Parts: sequence; structure tokens; C-alpha cells
Amino acid sequence: MSLNLYNSLTKREEQFVSLVEGIVTMYTCGPTVYGRPHIGNYSSFLMADLLRRWLEFGGYQVKQVKNITDVGHLLHDADHGDDKVEKEAAKEKVHPLRVAEKYTKEYLEDEAALQILEPFARPRATEYIAEMREMIEVLLQKGIAYTTDEGIYFDVMKFPHYGALSGNTVENLSAGARVEVNEAKHHPADFALWKFCVGPNADHVLRWPSPSPQPSPAGRGRIDSPDGFPGWHIECSAMSRSLLGDTIDIHTGGEDNIFPHHECEIAQSESVTGKPFVRFFLHKRRIDLGTTKMSKSLGNVFSLPDIVAKGYDALDLRYYLLSVHYRTRLKFTWKGMEDSKIARRKIVEWIDVLKRVMREEKVTGKSDDAPTIAVQSFKDAMNSDLNTPAALGTVFSLMNHYYAHAPFDAATQMRFIDFAEMIRHTFGCFEPAVSESIPVEVQSLLDARATARARKDFAESDRLRMEIEQRGYEVRDSKGKQEVKKM
Ligand SMILES: [Zn+2]
Repeated sequence: MSLNLYNSLTKREEQFVSLVEGIVTMYTCGPTVYGRPHIGNYSSFLMADLLRRWLEFGGYQVKQVKNITDVGHLLHDADHGDDKVEKEAAKEKVHPLRVAEKYTKEYLEDEAALQILEPFARPRATEYIAEMREMIEVLLQKGIAYTTDEGIYFDVMKFPHYGALSGNTVENLSAGARVEVNEAKHHPADFALWKFCVGPNADHVLRWPSPSPQPSPAGRGRIDSPDGFPGWHIECSAMSRSLLGDTIDIHTGGEDNIFPHHECEIAQSESVTGKPFVRFFLHKRRIDLGTTKMSKSLGNVFSLPDIVAKGYDALDLRYYLLSVHYRTRLKFTWKGMEDSKIARRKIVEWIDVLKRVMREEKVTGKSDDAPTIAVQSFKDAMNSDLNTPAALGTVFSLMNHYYAHAPFDAATQMRFIDFAEMIRHTFGCFEPAVSESIPVEVQSLLDARATARARKDFAESDRLRMEIEQRGYEVRDSKGKQEVKKM
């Protein structure tokens, strides 16, 4: 496959070739589990999922790691202030790990509903503290990190490429852009690798023994450090390195991750290993709501259940978020959501027609090379930096061609089906939903019957079974669930 991807590191499209033949290592910055992730988060995860599916279609084995941040991510991605998970725990009056567990569960439910493929590993930050400590110790030994009363900081002046990804060079940052003034830091842009449980963080619940620095000649180092917890950036560096190695092929995230998060990841990882950290960085442009940015801190976010409550399938959202190119800023509207629902249904129905016609052997028409040409156009679009709008354009042209010119002979019909299988695998949202195969009225009778059974009203349950059967469906009870099939 000849795949071109826009690399945020070099700011241009480059041909992607994996470091090891046939295998792609890919790290996706996952969620911080202090609330249900919003659809902006999912748009970034979906971009990574689309890329992974396309690489797999091209014959690669993709080792994708997607972390879960359950400690150390401070408000506003800053070095000071509250830990997002601990703040939510204080609000809910529960242990931080209970908060993490609760929102991880919701997050995984959403990912399943959106048909996001299971990664090779889903490491939790709290499971990789030893690996983070080890990297910080290397940085201290190399004199690239230093200790203050509040924590351990990375010295950006010791990493000449700092700012290469985001364009926030050390000189620019000296002018004070997006950095905090902290007297103890050598440079305002220096960032926390580790925070001690002192001062405003004295009550931090999750804490571990701090990395042990060598005392520096200037006497800055301290061996008797208090307990502490990791900074957010070092988490991804450590988990990526532990699970995928020193150099990875692809790193994905949202555009908001570029700075400081990914800039800091590069600095830490490369300073420890002396090797390039990432070969391709891909960033998903954020989603806007009308003219404003969608963000949890602004309180204008939608979660997947908000979308479903409006009568949409999770896969309608998947289609919507993937139908816009990942480097275009999507303006979320309900009109766009509605259009996506209709467009997706059309494709699902078409695939259904293709299969039914084949099954019923109504293939006594002509031969046509349109599906073969469409396969190539679709591949060209996807290989051109995942150009999903162009790829979907190919789908609709071929669909229109089919309806205008059917019937076709069996070999041609099969080529249409092959095309359908390719787009189904790639987009992951053209599966008929289970509920779609059961009529709405039967589904509501099933729901009523489940409620009746829950309150042990078996007379009502039997009455509803008869009603369901009158509509041509048989219902069986198995392991507390209703199984339904057409009679
Ligand atoms: Zn990350």
C-alpha cells in the first residue's frame, strides 16, 4: 500500500512505511477518566481507529496502545492546581480509583457502541509508576531534570529540539505564552515530571515513593524526598516505551495535545533513550459547537448518551465524525447529525440489497467494471491522508450507478459486494443495528415483556409473548435475557 499521511512533526504529507516490515506500532493518547468523555474526545479516538482499520486492510498488523489516565493530569493541562481525578473524587466523596473505575466503565461502553476496535493494550497510568520513576531517574542522572521543593522538573534548555512540534520555541515561551511563572524553575517552560505531595498537593490520595535523585554538586538534590505522583506527560512516554519500544511508528491525539503534552513527551523520551520517539504524529482537529470550542471546562459538551437520547444510533455519530476530514475543524450541528443518519442508512440499505440480490440469485444482467474502478478510487482517497469525504463520495457514486444500471451478472454483483465489504471494514459503521432487524412495535413489546418479567408478572409476560408471536416472532428466555427470532 502506498499511504501518505500528514506528519505534524514535519508539517507535510509523507509516505508511510513502518519501521519493521508488516507491523505498525501506534500509541493513541486515551482519556483522563474524571467524567464521561465527550464526542470531541471520541472524534480523536475514531480517527485513530480509522487509521488502524485502513492499515490493517493494507495488510499491516497494528499494535495499538491506548492509555487510560487515572492520576496526574492537572486542570488546564498545567503543572499546578488540582488533579482532575482527585478533584472529582473529592466532589463525589469517594476514593480517586473509584472515580477512575466508574468513568473507565462508561468510556469502554461508549467505545464498544462506536465499534472502536479493541487495542493491543489499554495501560492505566497507575500500573506504570515504576517505569515512570525509572525514566525520571535517568533524566536526573543525566542532569536534564532537577528537583525543587515542589517536584522534579524537566530542564527544557537541555533539549535543543524543544518546540519543534508545536512551534513554541524556548525563546517564544520565555515571553510567557502558556507557561506559569514559578520562581524555583530554571526556565518558565520547564515542566513537571513528578509532583511531591506537599503544599497544595499535600492531601493527594494516590502517592508513591518519589524517584531518588543523585544529590547534585550544587546541593539541589534531595534523597529524603516526600512521596509524590507523576506528571501527566511522563505517563505516556513510559507506557509507550514499555509496551511498544523506544521508537514508535505513529502517535495520535487531538490537536489540543500538541502543546504542551506531545512536545513534553518527545523531550522526555528522546532525552532518556537518545533515539527518535515518534516517526509520524497525527493530530485530529477539534470539534466546535457553532462558533465556540467544545470543551468540558466551558460546559458545552455532548456525550454519546446525549446523542442517543435524541434518537440517533451511536454509529450515526461515528459516520458523522468520520465523514469530515480529520484535519478539518468540524462544526457540530444537529442538522449535520440528521444528514449523517440518513446517509448512513442509505449505505446500510444498499449493502443489504446487494447481498439479498446475490442470495436470491437475481443476477441475470450485464457485466460492468464500475465496482473495480470504484475500489481504486476509494483506495486512492484513503491513501491520500485518509481523505474520507472523497472516499464516501466514491461510495455514493457507485451506489447511484448500481440503482441506475442493475441488474448485473453474478461476477459483477460479487465485485459490488467486495467493495461493500471494504467500506464496511474501513468505516466500521455500516453494520445493520440489531434493533433494525426487529420491527419497532415488536421491540417495544419485548421491552414491555422484560419489564413485566422483572416485576414477576408472568401472566402479563405470557400475554405479551402471544402478541409477539402474532407478529411472527418467537421469543425464548435464556440466562435472564430474551432471545428473539423470526418464526
Ligand atoms: Zn498522552
